[in-house]
Amino acid sequence: MTNRAEAVVNLSAIKANIASLKGKAGVDLMAVVKADAYGHGLVPVAKAALEGGASYLGVALLEEAIALRAAGITAPILAWLVPPGSDFQSAVDNDIDLAVASLKALAEVAAVKGAKRPRVHLEVDTGMTRGGFLNEWNEIDADHVQGVEIVGIFSHFARADEPGQAQNLEQLTRFKKMVATLESLGFTNLIRHLSNSAATLVDHASAFDMVRTGIAIYGLSPDVTTLGTSSELGLIPAMTLRAKLHLVKEVPAGSAVGYGATAITKTDTKLGIVAMGYADGIPRIAKIAGVSFLGRKAPIIGRVSMDQFVVDLGADTTAQSGDWVTVFGTGLGGEFTADDWGAASGSINYEIVTRIGPRVPRIYEL
Ligand SMILES: *Cc1c(COP(=O)(O)O)cnc(C)c1O
Repeated sequence: MTNRAEAVVNLSAIKANIASLKGKAGVDLMAVVKADAYGHGLVPVAKAALEGGASYLGVALLEEAIALRAAGITAPILAWLVPPGSDFQSAVDNDIDLAVASLKALAEVAAVKGAKRPRVHLEVDTGMTRGGFLNEWNEIDADHVQGVEIVGIFSHFARADEPGQAQNLEQLTRFKKMVATLESLGFTNLIRHLSNSAATLVDHASAFDMVRTGIAIYGLSPDVTTLGTSSELGLIPAMTLRAKLHLVKEVPAGSAVGYGATAITKTDTKLGIVAMGYADGIPRIAKIAGVSFLGRKAPIIGRVSMDQFVVDLGADTTAQSGDWVTVFGTGLGGEFTADDWGAASGSINYEIVTRIGPRVPRIYEL
């Protein structure tokens, strides 16, 4: 079977990005591979990340961590969205480190029986007001952590992609205080981790013992406007999304294109019908993106459908039915990028790559 669309994932790019980020951080690196490795494919990316120098893997869900173990990966794995009532026994049996953010979860984790002690990273809220201990932190004492091994302490930045923001320094200060509390209870040798990709790139003071990098290992900028593009940051976008032209056809000026007839061709032209749609993660709201053919951009015309969308290739295109077009890539060959698609849909590159649907095969380049 030949594909009508493919997400080509360059694993060497991921390794190179990790080497570059590790160099910047100067400490250990956790590769964040949640959400199917930001749409790039959980297991192949995790393996490449470890080969590239990551020493930890980070995921949101316990299922994701267990899938990594099932694939034979033995490196440390931290799962951080593991609410009370989760299968903590499986987590412990599979040597998965657990993030704990409440006394309730801590009690459940501590109650797990077995030969191994549960490995816990305490998550603290330093100002993002999402996950992590806040008021309960004052109640934590040695009794609560009986029966578990406290491996680390971590927190998450809300505005690391805005380097000048006072909130970053406030979060860093609170983090240091919360670490000190834990150390005063006798816990030393903690893995302290705070930085996401943005902080890793611009805020050296927050690196501590390990950084947790997600978007940047995939070669994407956490925020093009505030931090610069991939190439300005020395990163290589790992995913190229390409699709076949189901059809190329000549149409006269004045043709209404697609559902709702929202676009009318201004001149005689050739349209390409691209074999991907919103069911594959092409945002229906995207208005100013498109594809490229032989380095030349062809804009979207009309509405994105479920399985297809239409682009204006121009009257003089040499594209033919069955040819491949690039939906997004590194941008170095004149193609659109995930950043462009994010901007075109009022969103961010993170959402573009993570929403590429399961109908799109991931193809790996070494
Ligand atoms: C997703 C996530 C990260 C990675 O963030 P990036 O901006 O992609 O680097 C790090 N830590 C936590 C807790 C996360 O949820």
